[in-house]
Amino acid sequence: MKNLLLILTLLVMETNAFAQFSQEPLPYAFDALEPAIDKMTMEIHYGRHHKAYVDNLNKAVAGLPQEKLSLLDLQKSITPETPAAIRNNGGGVWNHTFFFNGMAPNAGGEPKGELGTAIVATWGSFDKFKEEFKKAALGRFGSGWVWLTVANGKLVIQSTPNQDNPLMSVSDVKGTPVLSLDVWEHAYYLKYQNKRADYTDAYWNVVNWDRANQLYKAAK
Ligand code: MN
Repeated sequence: MKNLLLILTLLVMETNAFAQFSQEPLPYAFDALEPAIDKMTMEIHYGRHHKAYVDNLNKAVAGLPQEKLSLLDLQKSITPETPAAIRNNGGGVWNHTFFFNGMAPNAGGEPKGELGTAIVATWGSFDKFKEEFKKAALGRFGSGWVWLTVANGKLVIQSTPNQDNPLMSVSDVKGTPVLSLDVWEHAYYLKYQNKRADYTDAYWNVVNWDRANQLYKAAK
């Protein structure tokens, strides 16, 4: 009986070892972004939604060539012919890791560095940029994302449906994201209910501009 348990344990470990994609740890505590993003939303968003995308992606790629790709290359491989389970869950994994890493405690404020300069050069002011970003957030019908993207060397605000992102060939505008906002209801409903505009306003208190600036400098 003891040996059987040992064999079963090893089998389970072996199965997990084959899982291609894993969930990156959250870089802060669940309550670290309070009050902009509440603790329970972070617990459910990371612990259930994000985890489910990882688990379902691993099921979707099992035995397929996509199993061998990095998460980044998987995004770039998405075409209209890609099975929906791979496109949606693959995007779900990458988008959430990018979004969570794009926020930080004691962050927010005005963008500085080269990105701050480029935002003002592109939109005239940080306030005008936030206005356009909010317009994109409110304009996304149903579920999706808003992105600040570098496309052909220029900054653009864009929105994608579902779990699509600017790295995918199916995106209207393709480019390299520097920051993102999840506008799925699961991202804000517990605290903000239907008030997506208030959630978008609160986001500016937790944006990790240092990271966005690094990504901008690498992308342009
Ligand atoms: Mn989400």
